[in-house]
Amino acid sequence: MTQDVASNLAAVNRRIAAAAEAAGRQASDITLIAVSKGQVEARIDEALAAGQRVFGENRVQEAQAHWVSRRAAQPDLELHLIGPLQTNKARDAVELFDVIQTVDRPKLVDRLVAAFDRAGRSRDCFVQVNTGEEPQKAGIWPEDADEFIAYCRSIELPVVGLMCIPPLSEPPAPHFALLRSIAERNGVSGLSMGMSADFETAIALGATHVRVGTDVFGERQVGYGAPAAGA
Ligand SMILES: *Cc1c(COP(=O)(O)O)cnc(C)c1O
Repeated sequence: MTQDVASNLAAVNRRIAAAAEAAGRQASDITLIAVSKGQVEARIDEALAAGQRVFGENRVQEAQAHWVSRRAAQPDLELHLIGPLQTNKARDAVELFDVIQTVDRPKLVDRLVAAFDRAGRSRDCFVQVNTGEEPQKAGIWPEDADEFIAYCRSIELPVVGLMCIPPLSEPPAPHFALLRSIAERNGVSGLSMGMSADFETAIALGATHVRVGTDVFGERQVGYGAPAAGA
């Protein structure tokens, strides 16, 4: 990997295109979310200058620092929340983000719907599934996913996709396949899966959104521990 964000982006986009082609898919059906958490301002500006417009962030407060003023200058941005959301931050999240990928409990659904009402428009949502059933990790458990998706729909939360973060210690493919099967049986089309280490595998298994931080920006500089440690 070079140190230059523009070249990194070009390389990641080439890898996405190759993985799509190998899977008999169109590269245009896969959205690259550049994960800017923990990155310095100059790197984010390099990504914008290179034409990247879709970004992911883990924390509402850090995302506000990164994006509130940039958004004013760059109205075509698309911002995805990919980290856990506390109910008391739901309103702030709805103000800043276009897509909320970490919907995982009824109380949060209720808060989001209230925040949509207040804002006068909703946001696309992904349901996060804890495919590895890891107690410390966010996400609805696989066996509860169907009922939870039905609940979201019953109060008109727009569920456009599912999202997962496989356990670090396991091969990711079975987790991606599980997420896909839950999506298929619930008629959900979006699949947010795959990070720097495994996005090609995720594309082979149907990812529509890949979340890539380190391979785009280099290692995280600010406020996060080990690189690629996930949420
Ligand atoms: C940090 C993070 C990413 C990006 O991870 P990299 O390994 O740096 O590509 C993707 N998804 C989630 C949920 C994250 O927290």
